[in-house]
Amino acid sequence: MLSRRFLLGALAGSAAVLASGVDVAAALAAPSGVDARDVATANAGRSPTQWGMTLPGIVTTFATSGRQLALTFDACDRACDDALLDTLAHHGVPALLFVCSKWIDANPGRTEQLAANPLFDIGNHGTRHVPLSVTGRSAYGIAGTHSAAEVVDEVWANQTRLTSLLGKGPVFYRTGTAHYDDVAVDIVHQLGLVPVGFSVNADNGATSAPTSVSAAYQHAPAGSVVLAHVNHPEAGTGAGVAAAIPAMQSAGWEFVPLAGQRLA
Ligand SMILES: [Zn+2]
Repeated sequence: MLSRRFLLGALAGSAAVLASGVDVAAALAAPSGVDARDVATANAGRSPTQWGMTLPGIVTTFATSGRQLALTFDACDRACDDALLDTLAHHGVPALLFVCSKWIDANPGRTEQLAANPLFDIGNHGTRHVPLSVTGRSAYGIAGTHSAAEVVDEVWANQTRLTSLLGKGPVFYRTGTAHYDDVAVDIVHQLGLVPVGFSVNADNGATSAPTSVSAAYQHAPAGSVVLAHVNHPEAGTGAGVAAAIPAMQSAGWEFVPLAGQRLA
């Protein structure tokens, strides 16, 4: 049987995406009130029917009438691309930074430091950086979680850690590899988080050359959620971002926080 607390948490999470003109402010303000164990129990034994990066319930774009993009960067593990972050700060560009527990371990103190900058919003990028599956599906050779309980653990351990570090829980979640099954998407919502994908992959896992990264930003349609990485300072991502942003701002493009947008 579902507890009242579980139902309220599930409703709060669903409302964040299902309503058109999503009220992320309400999601931000909502008390967590979620019992993660109840969520795992309620979803145990469910069979998924879909797998991928663009399933219903995953945010990949937002509604805009102008030349606006929302930039997101994943901090999966390893290092911190300080030059890229300096570029964003220098140009006043807001960004949603998805932080994994492995990256927090490798960069102690940085998450709190980044969160203190009003330009940056911290999202949850998982605990072990694995795809969210209830059947053990994998993506890019990375094995996913094997059950509803493991999905909950992957989301909730890092959520609890980030809540402790930042004094409030992140609103947005992106899996390691950005892959989910449909049961996992439901679970993320029931935990009170909004699953986020992307509509433009700007750096292909931090493997693209600067010219390619810059072109990806400059060709992104208005309303795109753009994905790149902030954990590979040796990659072409930072130089590509540094080339694209001033050119785009001069051309009238605006970079906006994903929070507060009408998500789709
Ligand atoms: Zn990642």
